[in-house]
Amino acid sequence: MSTSSNTLAKSRIAVLGYGSQGRAHALNLRDSGLDVVVGVRKGGPSWKRARDEGFKVAEPADAVRGADLVAVLTPDMVQPKLYEQAIEPNLKPGAALLFAHGFNVHFGQIKPRADIDVVMVAPKGPGALVRSEYERSRGVPCLYAVAQDASGHAEARANAYADGIGGARAMLIQTDFKEETETDLFGEQAVLCGGVSELVTRGFETLTEAGYQPEVAYYEVMHELKLIVDLFYEGGLTKMLQYVSETAQYGDFVSGPRVVDAATKDRMKAVLADIQDGSFAKNWTAEYKAGLPNYNRCKQADLEHPIETVGAALRARMAWLHPQTDKPARALRAMPPC
Ligand code: NAD
Ligand code: MG
Repeated sequence: MSTSSNTLAKSRIAVLGYGSQGRAHALNLRDSGLDVVVGVRKGGPSWKRARDEGFKVAEPADAVRGADLVAVLTPDMVQPKLYEQAIEPNLKPGAALLFAHGFNVHFGQIKPRADIDVVMVAPKGPGALVRSEYERSRGVPCLYAVAQDASGHAEARANAYADGIGGARAMLIQTDFKEETETDLFGEQAVLCGGVSELVTRGFETLTEAGYQPEVAYYEVMHELKLIVDLFYEGGLTKMLQYVSETAQYGDFVSGPRVVDAATKDRMKAVLADIQDGSFAKNWTAEYKAGLPNYNRCKQADLEHPIETVGAALRARMAWLHPQTDKPARALRAMPPC
């Protein structure tokens, strides 16, 4: 155990939720030598999985009782009720409450008791990567923040937790709940999920409406996106420009700004303003409480978009996406050495 995780050495950590982040955090903290109990609903699939993977498992309220640090790793929309019913009445004085996203605290959906520490450790990657990097003795960089420091040790506790999940092996960046929440929401709305999926589907529609085959359009605007994103990920715009042809670069320079122009940026600013003034959080909370009518309608429309029909058929023929049916590769491995 490193010096930093020693801050939590005598602490009991309750990890609430055993999904993408919860499972990875619980496993990494345990492998870092820390005392972990997993809090999930009895009888659910997460309960069984956590128990099968060797954890002490308890209902959330029971896991919180006696814990020195409670990591809230359930979906964001269920956290306010979970806080009210299972956490607040059972959390011991001076304990720490930890989040992996600042949404509920920043937008006042959870108003933590004054006597506890409130911190955030947000890995910049999905749970599967948080786990697999830890297993390779590496880690995924994390943002960390302190919203409330009742003990005087809140930052040390956040750092110790980040160390315990492996984040400190990579990089810790200090932020605050406002910055993490607003930038995270903006990224997923304007660029990552919202922006990219609209760009891809509008590109697909433009080609197919002009009479080109949907299969060809799919390859051009959806499939090949991965090649570009991988280059961004590995080496930014610089690497992308090194690896695409001169013709593609010239097309990028003259046509990119025609598609995404100053008006698009103005609309990005409007999206950011809605996040900053709380309108997005208010609308999303109301939508969730109303039973997700618009969410379900939009999701269904995405699932029924023609790019999904053609995509499913094409992906079924990509053997590398289905390793369990990858017979030739397995046959090769089984061959005796010559
Ligand atoms: P998830 O949907 O993968 O897992 C949620 C877990 O909570 C499951 O084990 C589920 O059974 C459990 N759960 C659901 N409702 C519950 C309830 N009422 N009571 C108790 N348990 C309940 O969630 P996730 O993606 O790991 O997200 C957890 C937190 O991590 C969120 O705050 C999210 O914003 C944040 N986060 C996620 C990612 C990511 O890549 N997924 C990255 C950074 C931060
Ligand atoms: Mg969309």
